[in-house]
Amino acid sequence: MKQKYPNLLVSRPASHLARQQYDVIVVGGGHAGTEAAAAAARVGAETLLVTQKIHTIGALSCNPSLGGVGKGQLVKEVDALDGLCGRAGDWAGIHFSILNRRKGPAVWGPRAQLDRQRYREFIQSELLGTPRLTVLEGSVEELLVTEPNPEKPGHHRVTGIRLANGNHSISASSVVLTTGTFLSGSLFMGQTTSPGGRIGDAPSSAGLSHTLRERLGLRIGRLRTGTPPRIVKDSVDLSQAKLHPPDRHPTPFSFLNKNTRCKPEDQLPCYLTFTTPGVERVVRESLHLNCHIQQDTKGPRYCPSIESRVLRFPGRRHQVWLEPEGVTSDLLYPQGLSMTMPPDVQLRLIREIPAMHRAEIRTPGYGVQYDFVCPTQLSPALQVKSTQGLFLAGQINGTTGYEEAAAQGLWAGVNAARWALSMSPVILSRTESYIGVLIDDLVTRGVTEPYRMFTSRAEFRTALRPDNADLRLTLKGRYKVGCVSSLRYQETVRVKDNLQEVLEFLCAFFLSGMDVLQYNDVSFEMLASVFPECLSPYMEFSQRLKIEAVYRPLCDLQKKDIERIQKEENMSLPLDIDYFSLPVSLSQEVREILDRVRPSTLGAATRLEGITPAAIAHLLNYARHTG
Ligand code: FAD
Repeated sequence: MKQKYPNLLVSRPASHLARQQYDVIVVGGGHAGTEAAAAAARVGAETLLVTQKIHTIGALSCNPSLGGVGKGQLVKEVDALDGLCGRAGDWAGIHFSILNRRKGPAVWGPRAQLDRQRYREFIQSELLGTPRLTVLEGSVEELLVTEPNPEKPGHHRVTGIRLANGNHSISASSVVLTTGTFLSGSLFMGQTTSPGGRIGDAPSSAGLSHTLRERLGLRIGRLRTGTPPRIVKDSVDLSQAKLHPPDRHPTPFSFLNKNTRCKPEDQLPCYLTFTTPGVERVVRESLHLNCHIQQDTKGPRYCPSIESRVLRFPGRRHQVWLEPEGVTSDLLYPQGLSMTMPPDVQLRLIREIPAMHRAEIRTPGYGVQYDFVCPTQLSPALQVKSTQGLFLAGQINGTTGYEEAAAQGLWAGVNAARWALSMSPVILSRTESYIGVLIDDLVTRGVTEPYRMFTSRAEFRTALRPDNADLRLTLKGRYKVGCVSSLRYQETVRVKDNLQEVLEFLCAFFLSGMDVLQYNDVSFEMLASVFPECLSPYMEFSQRLKIEAVYRPLCDLQKKDIERIQKEENMSLPLDIDYFSLPVSLSQEVREILDRVRPSTLGAATRLEGITPAAIAHLLNYARHTG
């Protein structure tokens, strides 16, 4: 690694940096931070990424996988905006599969098992090759902010950061905080608690939490998550588990890639096994030794620990997936066995599963609790409403998962750069992308438990498909946002022009080719064999055209709803409205909700819990008269 990317691993004292003033500083080199830093630099900002350890940039803290149902859509969208994670997934993937195949292609979930080391290497080399981006190893101790504006009490402006070591300050017009599970992080194993953001890594300093809570007055909550023990592969009897092969033909995440790095025949399998009554017994017997599970802090509902699973559904057997950790790794990741009991009890527990009756643990599972900032305090550009130039992304906003972090990171990075370069913020609507759905859910509804993406969260999922993320986002990304390279732009234009030509041809048939293509047993290949001259040049798009034909009628029906929402989203509500003195008829409860959340548009107000249709009608009148 050191020889391969010599510049990346050079860690210099901050005082040796070529400049002491940046447009954007990104704090944290996880999934949010790496996308944020790369995106800010692509937009044109001089960017500094400060992270605790350079060699952990792009580390997969928990599961060695990317994508899945809802999450795969986010990866495709990040890729369409020229982000890193899709291409990194294609480089590091060792087992590709499309989940949810039994349902329609709109909700298919592209997913891959990853080689941890390859993933990190790809992200690190990409960052190293990004113009205008400097990477510094260091821990940020404090955010530098101005005193509140006397005319707007509580309103600050960020001016930079102060590093922990050497007390060195660096100035910036905007700062993106992506501290993940590290903000006031505590690790839990059995009855032991220690400060930490991830095993082997110190937590983010108390000074940072202090700035957010005390100086900026932000509402902070606490969440938790956990990870399973890593199992020595050779100690597992895989003949007692069910082999789960990958897809025969791996589907790349990135629109730029025709193939994945891993050849189809070199992919590694996963294995499926199940818990036994013995597992439940060990969990129950050891509850008094397990302080993480006794806490009230909310954990991820859709990725629960084995303790939560057996306590919630007693008597059931639960799936355990044994997943490879990498091409040369001798470890397996037992998905479904996240646990926080003492290490000796963890060993007893896993040995209750027949395939693991002689298994050895390399590193035990553990839990982590961390601070998050209630995300209703952010604008749809992911900027803290009360602090100019401060952006937050990733787990710090109450989400869970690499994909959710990457998506927010990219968008926060884009907007931080635009803020620093005096450009207006850009917003993604929930009608055009899953990233828009994610951000809108966070900033209007907030979170009470770690938020993860599902296709069911997107009202217009038939239009927001994995196959068309490029057409939805790349052109906007190039012209309105400024984060897309000319290489990707040109490829998207080629695809768009080709699709337009072939669609025109198909729609011009006497009996529309698109109508015919809707039928289950009709494929584009069949039509092309009838009209080889006109259609065979477009064979590379056969699957996209089939999907387009199937969903087109439904998408046409939804157009009106999409237009209505877009109209409401274009009606902005000033962030400094005094809702308590607004001269319209609103109940005290509604005024309180509006005052707390401060929705930035009428559309966002309609999605707030507790806001009645009557209240929206009053707000609409108000917005019309003032806008
Ligand atoms: P992270 O990937 O955590 O990255 C944060 C980065 O910020 C790190 O590089 C850190 O060094 C750096 N940093 C922090 N503070 C500072 C500072 N003051 N100065 C400089 N650098 C700083 N996700 C799931 O989807 N399901 C799960 O079950 C799950 N379980 C998990 C279990 C554990 C124990 C952990 C640790 C994570 C788990 N995750 C899980 C979460 C997953 O790792 C995150 O969702 C994802 O990594 C979030 O990305 P991020 O960029 O927000 O933060």
